[in-house]
Amino acid sequence: MDHILVVEDNHLFGTVVCKMIRQQLSCKLTWVENYADARKKIEDRSNNFSVALLDLNLPDAEMGEAVDYAIAHDIPSIVFTSRFNQQLHEQIWSKGIVDYVLKEGPDSLNYIIKQIRRLHRNRSIDVLVVEDSALIRNHLVETLRVQRFNVFSATNGEEALSVISNNSNIRLVITDFHMPIMDGFDLVRKLRRQYSYNDLAIIGLSAHEDPTLSARFLKYGANDYLVKPFSQEEFYCRVHQNVDMLESIRQIRQNAERDFLTGLYNRRYFFNYWQKTLNPNKPTAFAMLDIDHFKQVNDTYGHDSGDQVLREISALLIRETPADALVARFGGEEFCLLFNADKEEATRVAEHLRETISRQKIPVEGQQQLQVTTSIGLYCGNCAEIEKIIRCADEKLYLAKQLGRNCVIATTTIEGEELHDQ
Ligand code: GH3
Ligand code: MG
Ligand code: MG
Ligand code: MG
Repeated sequence: MDHILVVEDNHLFGTVVCKMIRQQLSCKLTWVENYADARKKIEDRSNNFSVALLDLNLPDAEMGEAVDYAIAHDIPSIVFTSRFNQQLHEQIWSKGIVDYVLKEGPDSLNYIIKQIRRLHRNRSIDVLVVEDSALIRNHLVETLRVQRFNVFSATNGEEALSVISNNSNIRLVITDFHMPIMDGFDLVRKLRRQYSYNDLAIIGLSAHEDPTLSARFLKYGANDYLVKPFSQEEFYCRVHQNVDMLESIRQIRQNAERDFLTGLYNRRYFFNYWQKTLNPNKPTAFAMLDIDHFKQVNDTYGHDSGDQVLREISALLIRETPADALVARFGGEEFCLLFNADKEEATRVAEHLRETISRQKIPVEGQQQLQVTTSIGLYCGNCAEIEKIIRCADEKLYLAKQLGRNCVIATTTIEGEELHDQ
Protein backbone atom coordinates (compact mmCIF):
# COMPACT_ATOMS: atom_id res chain seq x y z
CA MET A 1 0.00 0.00 0.00
CA ASP A 2 1.26 3.50 -0.82
CA HIS A 3 2.42 5.58 2.13
CA ILE A 4 2.10 9.37 2.16
CA LEU A 5 4.08 11.69 4.43
CA VAL A 6 2.55 15.05 5.39
CA VAL A 7 4.82 17.61 7.09
CA GLU A 8 2.75 20.65 8.11
CA ASP A 9 2.83 22.76 11.28
CA ASN A 10 -0.37 24.68 10.54
CA HIS A 11 -2.83 22.52 12.43
CA LEU A 12 -5.93 23.56 10.52
CA PHE A 13 -4.42 23.05 7.07
CA GLY A 14 -2.78 19.76 8.13
CA THR A 15 -6.08 18.44 9.49
CA VAL A 16 -7.99 19.31 6.34
CA VAL A 17 -5.35 17.84 4.01
CA CYS A 18 -5.12 14.59 5.99
CA LYS A 19 -8.90 14.27 6.16
CA MET A 20 -9.19 14.74 2.42
CA ILE A 21 -6.45 12.17 1.72
CA ARG A 22 -8.08 9.63 4.01
CA GLN A 23 -11.45 10.16 2.35
CA GLN A 24 -10.27 10.01 -1.23
CA LEU A 25 -7.19 7.79 -1.41
CA SER A 26 -6.71 4.31 -0.04
CA CYS A 27 -3.22 4.63 1.35
CA LYS A 28 -1.25 4.85 4.59
CA LEU A 29 -0.72 8.33 5.98
CA THR A 30 1.81 9.81 8.41
CA TRP A 31 1.53 13.42 9.58
CA VAL A 32 4.29 15.20 11.49
CA GLU A 33 4.48 18.89 12.38
CA ASN A 34 8.18 19.70 12.29
CA TYR A 35 11.44 19.02 10.48
CA ALA A 36 13.01 16.94 13.27
CA ASP A 37 10.10 14.48 13.25
CA ALA A 38 10.04 14.43 9.46
CA ARG A 39 13.73 13.41 9.43
CA LYS A 40 13.04 10.56 11.82
CA LYS A 41 10.19 9.27 9.68
CA ILE A 42 12.20 9.54 6.47
CA GLU A 43 15.29 7.91 8.01
CA ASP A 44 13.17 4.91 8.95
CA ARG A 45 13.41 3.12 5.60
CA SER A 46 10.54 0.79 6.45
CA ASN A 47 8.18 3.74 5.92
CA ASN A 48 8.98 3.69 2.19
CA PHE A 49 7.04 6.88 1.37
CA SER A 50 5.59 7.09 -2.16
CA VAL A 51 5.14 10.87 -1.88
CA ALA A 52 5.78 13.66 0.64
CA LEU A 53 3.62 16.77 1.03
CA LEU A 54 5.85 19.36 2.64
CA ASP A 55 5.28 22.79 4.06
CA LEU A 56 8.10 25.06 2.92
CA ASN A 57 8.13 26.92 6.24
CA LEU A 58 8.49 24.84 9.38
CA PRO A 59 9.28 26.17 12.87
CA ASP A 60 12.63 24.32 12.88
CA ALA A 61 13.33 24.65 9.12
CA GLU A 62 12.44 27.95 7.51
CA MET A 63 14.43 27.55 4.31
CA GLY A 64 12.73 24.48 2.86
CA GLU A 65 15.24 22.08 4.46
CA ALA A 66 12.53 19.42 4.78
CA VAL A 67 12.07 19.52 1.01
CA ASP A 68 15.80 19.09 0.38
CA TYR A 69 15.90 16.23 2.85
CA ALA A 70 12.98 14.35 1.27
CA ILE A 71 14.36 14.81 -2.25
CA ALA A 72 17.84 13.69 -1.15
CA HIS A 73 16.10 10.51 0.04
CA ASP A 74 14.47 10.07 -3.36
CA ILE A 75 10.93 10.80 -2.19
CA PRO A 76 8.76 12.62 -4.76
CA SER A 77 7.89 15.90 -3.08
CA ILE A 78 4.94 18.26 -3.38
CA VAL A 79 5.48 21.59 -1.63
CA PHE A 80 2.89 23.75 0.17
CA THR A 81 3.44 27.42 0.54
CA SER A 82 1.30 30.34 1.62
CA ARG A 83 3.43 33.02 -0.05
CA PHE A 84 4.49 33.36 -3.64
CA ASN A 85 6.96 35.47 -5.57
CA GLN A 86 9.16 35.03 -8.61
CA GLN A 87 12.33 34.38 -6.64
CA LEU A 88 10.69 31.78 -4.43
CA HIS A 89 9.18 30.16 -7.48
CA GLU A 90 12.58 29.63 -9.09
CA GLN A 91 14.08 28.52 -5.81
CA ILE A 92 11.43 25.83 -5.25
CA TRP A 93 11.59 24.44 -8.76
CA SER A 94 15.38 24.22 -8.72
CA LYS A 95 15.11 21.65 -5.93
CA GLY A 96 13.61 18.97 -8.19
CA ILE A 97 10.08 18.93 -6.79
CA VAL A 98 7.06 17.24 -8.34
CA ASP A 99 4.89 20.32 -7.90
CA TYR A 100 4.05 23.14 -5.53
CA VAL A 101 0.64 24.20 -4.28
CA LEU A 102 -0.45 27.52 -2.87
CA LYS A 103 -2.58 27.20 0.27
CA GLU A 104 -5.62 28.85 -1.21
CA GLY A 105 -8.61 26.79 -0.14
CA PRO A 106 -10.68 23.90 -1.49
CA ASP A 107 -9.32 24.14 -5.03
CA SER A 108 -5.76 23.58 -3.90
CA LEU A 109 -6.85 20.55 -1.87
CA ASN A 110 -8.50 19.01 -4.92
CA TYR A 111 -5.39 19.78 -6.92
CA ILE A 112 -3.18 18.01 -4.34
CA ILE A 113 -5.31 14.86 -4.50
CA LYS A 114 -5.24 14.95 -8.28
CA GLN A 115 -1.44 15.26 -8.31
CA ILE A 116 -0.94 12.40 -5.86
CA ARG A 117 -3.13 10.16 -8.00
CA ARG A 118 -1.25 11.28 -11.09
CA LEU A 119 2.12 10.54 -9.50
CA HIS A 120 1.05 7.05 -8.43
CA ARG A 121 -0.29 6.23 -11.89
CA ASN A 122 2.84 7.57 -13.61
CA ARG A 123 4.72 4.53 -12.34
CA SER A 124 2.96 2.41 -14.93
CA ILE A 125 3.43 4.82 -17.85
CA ASP A 126 6.35 4.41 -20.26
CA VAL A 127 7.71 7.57 -21.90
CA LEU A 128 10.31 7.91 -24.65
CA VAL A 129 12.59 10.95 -24.92
CA VAL A 130 14.17 11.53 -28.35
CA GLU A 131 16.88 14.19 -28.36
CA ASP A 132 20.38 14.32 -29.88
CA SER A 133 21.90 16.66 -27.29
CA ALA A 134 23.09 14.49 -24.40
CA LEU A 135 22.80 17.39 -21.97
CA ILE A 136 19.15 18.12 -22.79
CA ARG A 137 18.27 14.43 -23.15
CA ASN A 138 19.63 13.58 -19.70
CA HIS A 139 17.90 16.59 -18.21
CA LEU A 140 14.54 15.56 -19.70
CA VAL A 141 14.97 11.97 -18.57
CA GLU A 142 15.76 13.08 -15.02
CA THR A 143 12.90 15.58 -15.01
CA LEU A 144 10.44 12.86 -16.03
CA ARG A 145 11.86 10.42 -13.47
CA VAL A 146 11.04 12.94 -10.73
CA GLN A 147 7.41 12.33 -11.71
CA ARG A 148 8.04 8.57 -11.50
CA PHE A 149 7.52 7.83 -15.21
CA ASN A 150 9.42 4.86 -16.70
CA VAL A 151 11.68 6.67 -19.12
CA PHE A 152 13.38 5.38 -22.27
CA SER A 153 15.62 7.48 -24.48
CA ALA A 154 16.92 7.67 -28.06
CA THR A 155 19.31 10.03 -29.85
CA ASN A 156 17.46 10.27 -33.20
CA GLY A 157 14.25 9.26 -34.98
CA GLU A 158 15.55 5.98 -36.31
CA GLU A 159 16.70 4.83 -32.89
CA ALA A 160 13.34 5.97 -31.46
CA LEU A 161 11.42 3.74 -33.89
CA SER A 162 13.50 0.79 -32.82
CA VAL A 163 13.02 1.52 -29.09
CA ILE A 164 9.26 1.85 -29.49
CA SER A 165 8.95 -1.33 -31.55
CA ASN A 166 10.66 -3.19 -28.71
CA ASN A 167 8.57 -1.54 -25.98
CA SER A 168 4.93 -1.63 -26.95
CA ASN A 169 3.91 0.01 -23.65
CA ILE A 170 5.33 3.42 -24.54
CA ARG A 171 2.42 5.88 -24.40
CA LEU A 172 4.17 9.23 -24.76
CA VAL A 173 7.00 10.33 -27.06
CA ILE A 174 8.76 13.64 -26.48
CA THR A 175 10.86 14.49 -29.51
CA ASP A 176 13.28 17.16 -30.61
CA PHE A 177 13.02 18.48 -34.19
CA HIS A 178 16.59 18.88 -35.35
CA MET A 179 18.43 15.55 -35.08
CA PRO A 180 20.86 13.61 -37.30
CA ILE A 181 19.77 10.51 -39.33
CA MET A 182 16.03 11.06 -38.80
CA ASP A 183 14.52 14.36 -37.62
CA GLY A 184 11.45 14.93 -35.45
CA PHE A 185 9.02 15.52 -38.36
CA ASP A 186 9.97 12.29 -40.04
CA LEU A 187 9.65 10.43 -36.75
CA VAL A 188 6.18 11.86 -36.04
CA ARG A 189 4.96 10.99 -39.56
CA LYS A 190 6.25 7.43 -39.28
CA LEU A 191 4.81 6.98 -35.78
CA ARG A 192 1.37 8.19 -36.90
CA ARG A 193 1.24 5.53 -39.65
CA GLN A 194 1.38 2.97 -36.87
CA TYR A 195 -0.11 4.54 -33.75
CA SER A 196 -3.31 6.55 -33.47
CA TYR A 197 -3.84 9.63 -31.28
CA ASN A 198 -5.84 7.34 -28.98
CA ASP A 199 -2.87 5.11 -28.27
CA LEU A 200 0.18 7.35 -28.36
CA ALA A 201 0.71 11.03 -27.50
CA ILE A 202 3.58 13.00 -29.04
CA ILE A 203 5.07 16.29 -27.84
CA GLY A 204 7.44 18.11 -30.22
CA LEU A 205 10.36 20.21 -28.94
CA SER A 206 12.57 22.68 -30.70
CA ALA A 207 14.97 25.49 -30.00
CA HIS A 208 14.49 26.93 -33.48
CA GLU A 209 12.95 30.33 -33.66
CA ASP A 210 11.06 29.38 -36.80
CA PRO A 211 7.39 30.15 -36.01
CA THR A 212 6.15 27.62 -38.60
CA LEU A 213 7.70 24.69 -36.73
CA SER A 214 4.95 24.31 -34.15
CA ALA A 215 2.14 24.17 -36.71
CA ARG A 216 4.09 21.70 -38.85
CA PHE A 217 4.77 19.44 -35.86
CA LEU A 218 1.05 19.46 -35.09
CA LYS A 219 0.04 18.84 -38.72
CA TYR A 220 2.37 15.85 -38.99
CA GLY A 221 0.63 14.34 -35.99
CA ALA A 222 2.08 15.71 -32.74
CA ASN A 223 -0.43 16.46 -29.96
CA ASP A 224 1.54 19.33 -28.51
CA TYR A 225 4.66 21.46 -28.90
CA LEU A 226 7.15 23.22 -26.62
CA VAL A 227 9.81 25.80 -27.50
CA LYS A 228 13.17 25.38 -25.72
CA PRO A 229 13.99 26.62 -23.18
CA PHE A 230 10.78 25.94 -21.26
CA SER A 231 10.09 25.89 -17.55
CA GLN A 232 9.90 22.60 -15.72
CA GLU A 233 6.47 23.61 -14.51
CA GLU A 234 5.09 24.12 -18.02
CA PHE A 235 6.73 20.90 -19.18
CA TYR A 236 4.97 18.95 -16.41
CA CYS A 237 1.63 20.61 -17.16
CA ARG A 238 1.81 19.60 -20.82
CA VAL A 239 3.05 16.08 -20.13
CA HIS A 240 0.27 15.57 -17.60
CA GLN A 241 -2.39 16.97 -19.87
CA ASN A 242 -1.38 14.54 -22.57
CA VAL A 243 -1.31 11.47 -20.33
CA ASP A 244 -4.62 12.58 -18.75
CA MET A 245 -6.11 12.64 -22.24
CA LEU A 246 -4.84 9.15 -23.06
CA GLU A 247 -6.28 7.85 -19.81
CA SER A 248 -9.67 9.45 -20.50
CA ILE A 249 -9.77 7.82 -23.92
CA ARG A 250 -8.85 4.48 -22.43
CA GLN A 251 -11.60 4.89 -19.81
CA ILE A 252 -14.19 5.78 -22.43
CA ARG A 253 -13.10 2.82 -24.54
CA GLN A 254 -13.35 0.53 -21.56
CA ASN A 255 -16.82 1.83 -20.68
CA ALA A 256 -17.93 1.14 -24.24
CA GLU A 257 -16.50 -2.38 -24.27
CA ARG A 258 -17.34 -3.61 -20.82
CA ASP A 259 -20.45 -4.46 -18.90
CA PHE A 260 -20.74 -2.12 -15.92
CA LEU A 261 -22.05 -4.62 -13.37
CA THR A 262 -19.68 -7.54 -13.97
CA GLY A 263 -16.70 -5.96 -15.73
CA LEU A 264 -16.97 -8.63 -18.45
CA TYR A 265 -16.86 -7.68 -22.13
CA ASN A 266 -20.25 -6.74 -23.51
CA ARG A 267 -22.12 -8.07 -26.48
CA ARG A 268 -20.84 -5.42 -28.89
CA TYR A 269 -17.20 -6.05 -28.09
CA PHE A 270 -17.77 -9.79 -28.31
CA PHE A 271 -19.19 -9.53 -31.84
CA ASN A 272 -16.48 -7.18 -33.07
CA TYR A 273 -13.78 -9.42 -31.68
CA TRP A 274 -15.36 -12.54 -33.15
CA GLN A 275 -15.74 -10.99 -36.59
CA LYS A 276 -12.07 -9.99 -36.61
CA THR A 277 -10.74 -13.34 -35.41
CA LEU A 278 -13.11 -15.84 -37.06
CA ASN A 279 -11.04 -18.56 -38.73
CA PRO A 280 -13.04 -21.40 -40.36
CA ASN A 281 -9.87 -23.49 -40.57
CA LYS A 282 -9.84 -23.87 -36.82
CA PRO A 283 -12.72 -25.35 -34.84
CA THR A 284 -14.61 -22.69 -32.91
CA ALA A 285 -16.25 -23.50 -29.62
CA PHE A 286 -19.15 -21.20 -28.69
CA ALA A 287 -21.11 -21.70 -25.51
CA MET A 288 -24.24 -19.91 -24.30
CA LEU A 289 -24.78 -20.17 -20.60
CA ASP A 290 -27.96 -19.12 -18.79
CA ILE A 291 -28.57 -19.14 -15.04
CA ASP A 292 -31.53 -21.34 -14.12
CA HIS A 293 -34.56 -19.80 -12.43
CA PHE A 294 -32.70 -16.58 -11.85
CA LYS A 295 -35.92 -14.64 -11.48
CA GLN A 296 -36.54 -16.63 -8.30
CA VAL A 297 -33.17 -15.49 -6.91
CA ASN A 298 -34.27 -11.88 -7.32
CA ASP A 299 -37.74 -12.58 -5.96
CA THR A 300 -36.42 -14.44 -2.91
CA TYR A 301 -33.23 -12.59 -1.97
CA GLY A 302 -33.68 -9.20 -3.63
CA HIS A 303 -32.18 -7.53 -6.68
CA ASP A 304 -28.89 -6.64 -4.95
CA SER A 305 -28.28 -10.29 -4.14
CA GLY A 306 -29.12 -11.09 -7.77
CA ASP A 307 -26.45 -8.63 -8.83
CA GLN A 308 -23.99 -10.26 -6.45
CA VAL A 309 -24.70 -13.66 -8.02
CA LEU A 310 -24.05 -12.22 -11.50
CA ARG A 311 -20.70 -10.82 -10.33
CA GLU A 312 -19.66 -14.08 -8.66
CA ILE A 313 -20.57 -16.17 -11.70
CA SER A 314 -18.64 -13.74 -13.93
CA ALA A 315 -15.52 -14.03 -11.77
CA LEU A 316 -15.87 -17.79 -11.78
CA LEU A 317 -16.15 -17.87 -15.58
CA ILE A 318 -12.95 -15.86 -15.96
CA ARG A 319 -11.17 -18.05 -13.41
CA GLU A 320 -12.28 -21.41 -14.78
CA THR A 321 -12.11 -20.94 -18.56
CA PRO A 322 -9.01 -21.47 -20.73
CA ALA A 323 -6.71 -18.43 -20.77
CA ASP A 324 -7.46 -17.63 -24.43
CA ALA A 325 -11.26 -17.83 -24.03
CA LEU A 326 -13.30 -14.69 -24.51
CA VAL A 327 -16.04 -14.40 -21.90
CA ALA A 328 -18.86 -11.88 -22.26
CA ARG A 329 -22.16 -10.98 -20.66
CA PHE A 330 -24.68 -11.30 -23.44
CA GLY A 331 -27.45 -9.67 -21.45
CA GLY A 332 -29.47 -10.32 -18.27
CA GLU A 333 -28.33 -13.61 -16.73
CA GLU A 334 -26.92 -14.93 -19.98
CA PHE A 335 -23.20 -15.29 -20.71
CA CYS A 336 -21.22 -16.54 -23.66
CA LEU A 337 -17.83 -18.00 -24.24
CA LEU A 338 -15.66 -18.25 -27.33
CA PHE A 339 -12.55 -20.40 -27.51
CA ASN A 340 -10.55 -22.72 -29.71
CA ALA A 341 -11.14 -26.39 -28.96
CA ASP A 342 -12.37 -29.59 -30.56
CA LYS A 343 -15.71 -30.97 -29.47
CA GLU A 344 -14.31 -33.25 -26.80
CA GLU A 345 -12.29 -30.50 -25.17
CA ALA A 346 -15.08 -27.92 -25.52
CA THR A 347 -17.59 -30.27 -23.89
CA ARG A 348 -15.14 -30.94 -21.06
CA VAL A 349 -14.78 -27.17 -20.47
CA ALA A 350 -18.56 -26.61 -20.52
CA GLU A 351 -19.20 -29.56 -18.17
CA HIS A 352 -16.50 -28.29 -15.82
CA LEU A 353 -18.15 -24.85 -15.71
CA ARG A 354 -21.62 -26.25 -15.13
CA GLU A 355 -20.35 -28.49 -12.35
CA THR A 356 -18.18 -25.81 -10.67
CA ILE A 357 -21.00 -23.25 -10.73
CA SER A 358 -23.47 -25.71 -9.22
CA ARG A 359 -21.09 -26.33 -6.30
CA GLN A 360 -20.18 -22.68 -5.74
CA LYS A 361 -21.58 -21.17 -2.53
CA ILE A 362 -22.32 -17.52 -3.13
CA PRO A 363 -22.46 -15.19 -0.13
CA VAL A 364 -25.26 -12.62 -0.39
CA GLU A 365 -26.75 -10.05 1.93
CA GLY A 366 -27.62 -11.06 5.48
CA GLN A 367 -24.79 -13.61 5.66
CA GLN A 368 -26.78 -16.07 3.60
CA GLN A 369 -25.20 -18.34 1.02
CA LEU A 370 -26.96 -19.51 -2.06
CA GLN A 371 -26.30 -21.83 -4.97
CA VAL A 372 -27.43 -21.62 -8.56
CA THR A 373 -27.27 -23.92 -11.56
CA THR A 374 -26.81 -23.14 -15.23
CA SER A 375 -27.90 -24.58 -18.54
CA ILE A 376 -25.42 -24.50 -21.41
CA GLY A 377 -25.85 -24.74 -25.18
CA LEU A 378 -22.60 -25.49 -27.00
CA TYR A 379 -21.60 -25.45 -30.64
CA CYS A 380 -18.20 -26.67 -31.76
CA GLY A 381 -17.21 -26.79 -35.41
CA ASN A 382 -15.93 -24.95 -38.47
CA CYS A 383 -18.99 -22.91 -39.45
CA ALA A 384 -18.00 -19.41 -40.63
CA GLU A 385 -21.36 -17.72 -40.02
CA ILE A 386 -21.61 -16.14 -36.61
CA GLU A 387 -25.40 -15.69 -36.69
CA LYS A 388 -25.91 -19.38 -37.49
CA ILE A 389 -23.56 -20.45 -34.70
CA ILE A 390 -25.38 -18.29 -32.18
CA ARG A 391 -28.81 -19.52 -33.27
CA CYS A 392 -27.57 -23.10 -33.02
CA ALA A 393 -26.12 -22.66 -29.51
CA ASP A 394 -29.30 -20.86 -28.46
CA GLU A 395 -31.42 -23.80 -29.66
CA LYS A 396 -29.25 -26.18 -27.65
CA LEU A 397 -29.62 -23.95 -24.60
CA TYR A 398 -33.39 -24.02 -25.00
CA LEU A 399 -33.24 -27.80 -25.23
CA ALA A 400 -31.11 -27.94 -22.06
CA LYS A 401 -33.80 -25.96 -20.25
CA GLN A 402 -36.50 -28.32 -21.53
CA LEU A 403 -34.53 -31.36 -20.46
CA GLY A 404 -34.58 -30.19 -16.86
CA ARG A 405 -31.82 -27.52 -16.65
CA ASN A 406 -28.35 -27.86 -15.04
CA CYS A 407 -27.00 -29.65 -18.11
CA VAL A 408 -24.88 -29.14 -21.24
CA ILE A 409 -26.21 -29.85 -24.72
CA ALA A 410 -23.43 -29.88 -27.33
CA THR A 411 -23.46 -30.22 -31.09
CA THR A 412 -21.00 -30.15 -33.98
CA THR A 413 -23.57 -29.76 -36.72
CA ILE A 414 -25.81 -26.85 -37.50
CA GLU A 415 -28.26 -28.12 -40.06
CA GLY A 416 -29.52 -31.59 -40.83
CA GLU A 417 -28.38 -34.44 -38.66
CA GLU A 418 -27.35 -33.43 -35.16
CA LEU A 419 -25.50 -35.30 -32.46
CA HIS A 420 -26.76 -34.52 -28.99
CA ASP A 421 -24.52 -35.12 -26.04
CA GLN A 422 -25.61 -34.65 -22.51
P1 GH3 B 1 -34.78 -19.91 -16.79
O1 GH3 B 1 -34.24 -21.00 -15.96
O2 GH3 B 1 -35.82 -20.37 -17.76
O3 GH3 B 1 -33.68 -19.18 -17.49
O4 GH3 B 1 -35.51 -18.89 -15.81
P2 GH3 B 1 -35.04 -17.47 -15.35
O5 GH3 B 1 -35.85 -17.05 -14.19
O6 GH3 B 1 -33.57 -17.49 -15.15
O7 GH3 B 1 -35.30 -16.60 -16.64
P3 GH3 B 1 -36.18 -15.32 -16.89
O8 GH3 B 1 -35.83 -14.89 -18.28
O9 GH3 B 1 -37.63 -15.60 -16.60
O10 GH3 B 1 -35.68 -14.24 -15.86
C1 GH3 B 1 -34.44 -13.64 -15.93
C2 GH3 B 1 -34.34 -12.67 -14.81
O11 GH3 B 1 -33.08 -12.03 -14.78
C3 GH3 B 1 -35.36 -11.55 -14.92
C4 GH3 B 1 -34.57 -10.30 -14.71
O12 GH3 B 1 -35.17 -9.44 -13.77
C5 GH3 B 1 -33.27 -10.78 -14.16
N1 GH3 B 1 -32.17 -9.90 -14.50
C6 GH3 B 1 -31.75 -9.50 -15.73
N2 GH3 B 1 -30.71 -8.65 -15.61
C7 GH3 B 1 -30.45 -8.51 -14.29
C8 GH3 B 1 -29.50 -7.76 -13.52
O13 GH3 B 1 -28.65 -7.02 -14.05
N3 GH3 B 1 -29.55 -7.87 -12.17
C9 GH3 B 1 -30.45 -8.66 -11.52
N4 GH3 B 1 -30.42 -8.72 -10.21
N5 GH3 B 1 -31.38 -9.35 -12.24
C10 GH3 B 1 -31.38 -9.29 -13.58
MG1 MG C 1 18.67 18.78 -31.68
MG1 MG D 1 -32.27 -17.92 -16.78
MG1 MG E 1 -32.29 -15.75 -19.84
